Amino acid sequence: MTMTAPLAPTTTSPDVAGSALADELAAGLPAGAVLTDPDVVASMSRDQAAWAPHGRPAAVVRATCTADVVHVVRTCLRHGVPVVARGAGTGLSGGANAVEGCVVVSLERMDRVLEINPLEQLAVVQPGVVNDDLRAAVAEHDLWYPPDPASSPWSTIGGNVATNAGGLCCVKYGVTRDYVLQLEVVTGRGEVVRLGRRTAKGVAGYDLMGLVVGSEGTLGIVTEVTVRLRPLPAPAVTVAGFFSSVVAAGAAVRAVGEAGLVPSALELVDRHCLRAVDEWKNMGLSTEAEVVLLGRFDEPGELGEGLAEQMVACFRAAGATWAERSTDEAEAEALFAARRLAYPALERLGPVLTEDVCVPKEQVPEMLARIERTAVRRGVVIANIAHAGDGNLHPLLVTPPGDVEARARAEAAFDDIIADALALGGTVTGEHGVGLLKRDGLTAELSAEVLAMHRAVKAALDPAHLLNPGKVFS
Ligand SMILES: Cc1cc2nc3c(=O)[nH]c(=O)nc-3n(C[C@H](O)[C@H](O)[C@H](O)COP(=O)(O)OP(=O)(O)OC[C@H]3O[C@@H](n4cnc5c(N)ncnc54)[C@H](O)[C@@H]3O)c2cc1C
Repeated sequence: MTMTAPLAPTTTSPDVAGSALADELAAGLPAGAVLTDPDVVASMSRDQAAWAPHGRPAAVVRATCTADVVHVVRTCLRHGVPVVARGAGTGLSGGANAVEGCVVVSLERMDRVLEINPLEQLAVVQPGVVNDDLRAAVAEHDLWYPPDPASSPWSTIGGNVATNAGGLCCVKYGVTRDYVLQLEVVTGRGEVVRLGRRTAKGVAGYDLMGLVVGSEGTLGIVTEVTVRLRPLPAPAVTVAGFFSSVVAAGAAVRAVGEAGLVPSALELVDRHCLRAVDEWKNMGLSTEAEVVLLGRFDEPGELGEGLAEQMVACFRAAGATWAERSTDEAEAEALFAARRLAYPALERLGPVLTEDVCVPKEQVPEMLARIERTAVRRGVVIANIAHAGDGNLHPLLVTPPGDVEARARAEAAFDDIIADALALGGTVTGEHGVGLLKRDGLTAELSAEVLAMHRAVKAALDPAHLLNPGKVFS
């Protein structure tokens, strides 16, 4: 893994470029939009990916409208300065990390919900709208925006689109891509284009909108998003199962798939995570189980309850030490809250290197077994949370602060896990994106021909290689 790969300067040093560039940027932007204070700029220079390298931005621009973004891109084109888009900075792959001497464009101030259309079941939003805020706004119309990354209280729709974010309910409802209808995008040429359409169907031309979804800020800066909505689902029925090992829990995940059940969530949380959450929030969670599986069904009434009972049976048949349908909604919600808090809880113990591999469902038990063996072989604490129903596993490699040797072991374990996922027919990233951390993994996963296609698309849409250079592939 090339954790220390430098983000090579693509222009003169930030100190030299900064002043002239900042003046030109400021001339076309609202007062206060350009930030050059070193502390402020430093605070916007990286995301949440531990150990991913980052450069020093020359400036940060807090865009307020599409015209601001166009001005930034055109100014940077003239200066040959890279532009890095930034949402909330919750990314876990280094995608929003500054390139040396770049301008970081923060989209957080573009945070208005522009339209909610119950007839068409769509919403139009600016990119800085926070995921949970969109969900709350559309819920007032009995509508629902399904993609729910565990970062939904903080992450932005622009960032979700740029990473094609997944989440808990994707096992039934799909990922961000399945809900994007239309995008307004500022290209690397400084042009504003509309991609996709508002209609329910439409096949005119290549799917250029689909190319931008998941492109991690390398093909365009998203300045407006039209999303598809659904009616609000029925209240969910929750199933909890305790297991004595991650492998047993993995077998239960496979059993649920084999039974043809499609839950609206199927999450795995192991004892490292539960303990970390307990130590932080004192939630009184069970420490009796090595692993907890949490399932949900949102079919109404008896149908949902029947499906939940079938899941309980799958859990028990796979060796659960305890499995029940929850009758206490507050208790069920606490377990899901613990799942969402697992990552920040572990971060309190030391730097966390987050994996994001995804394997076929039938390989979940084998992949979890390999992760356990890797932890022992490399001498690394590996906690596990997973969108298990998707086969999307998040082994979390926790190291003591400042322990250089532990870090090296964790980096080696990170590579082992990627190699195992590929060997089992999986992918190096299920939802977090390639960013910087998975560039080697992408090269291992894709053929040379397919990588060449990626480079050809990049060269066509961003010929100056202005947008987030060095991310996804070099
Ligand atoms: C606690 C925690 C839980 C998480 N859980 C999940 C999860 O369940 N599922 C999941 O998929 N991810 C998860 N993540 C990862 C992260 O939240 C997602 O990748 C999210 O989509 C990033 O959104 P953001 O607004 O923070 O974007 P940022 O981190 O700011 O940026 C992410 C990428 O998008 C680009 N970008 C941002 N905005 C734009 C824009 N407007 N136009 C073009 N490019 C842009 C950036 O350049 C960068 O490459 C989690 C992260 C944390 C910290």
